[in-house]
Amino acid sequence: MIDIAKEYRVALPAWIDDELADLPAVLPDAADRMRLVHRLADRNWREGNGGPFAAVVAERATGRIVSVGVNVVLATGVSSAHAEVVALGLAQIATGGWDLGAEGLPAHELVVNWRPCVQCYGAAMWSGVRGLVVAGEGPELEEITTFDEGPLGADWAEQFEARGIEVVHDVLREEALAVFRDYREAVDKAAGVVVYNARGGAS
Ligand SMILES: [Zn+2]
Repeated sequence: MIDIAKEYRVALPAWIDDELADLPAVLPDAADRMRLVHRLADRNWREGNGGPFAAVVAERATGRIVSVGVNVVLATGVSSAHAEVVALGLAQIATGGWDLGAEGLPAHELVVNWRPCVQCYGAAMWSGVRGLVVAGEGPELEEITTFDEGPLGADWAEQFEARGIEVVHDVLREEALAVFRDYREAVDKAAGVVVYNARGGAS
């Protein structure tokens, strides 16, 4: 019999509990939701789990936090374990199914600290979210961090809108760049930080 793996596990790191301990279950202010994303992204790379990326799934109307995700590519050894994929998967576990836009559920949004990479573009589009909130877009992420985000079309936001997913841009953009710069500085100092897509694969 061929010896193959039959399961893989993607889980949040234990330190997430510290970050969520004093947080209210509902963050009605969109900026507060993004602030949480930035905090998780910053801690994530410092802890060595993966790149400086985090995401939150929240109920759009209320701001209730449904799930959080961080990039755990390094921690899991799974290249697709980007923050968005982790947050969306955990939100679907929490809400009971593969469609966050299913009947009877409140509308959900995905909050991320930059526009999605080419993988997470699809993952977000098929998740059932009705909103995508990004801190920023543009070449800065790739320039600062050197991560390759893949060949995303210039009309990426229009494609979301065409599928009923509203895109909100530029929420705490400077704060996102500050996290990326701190990360880059540590990489340049070779302080044990791994840029894991040296071949141009993932972020
Ligand atoms: Zn991604």
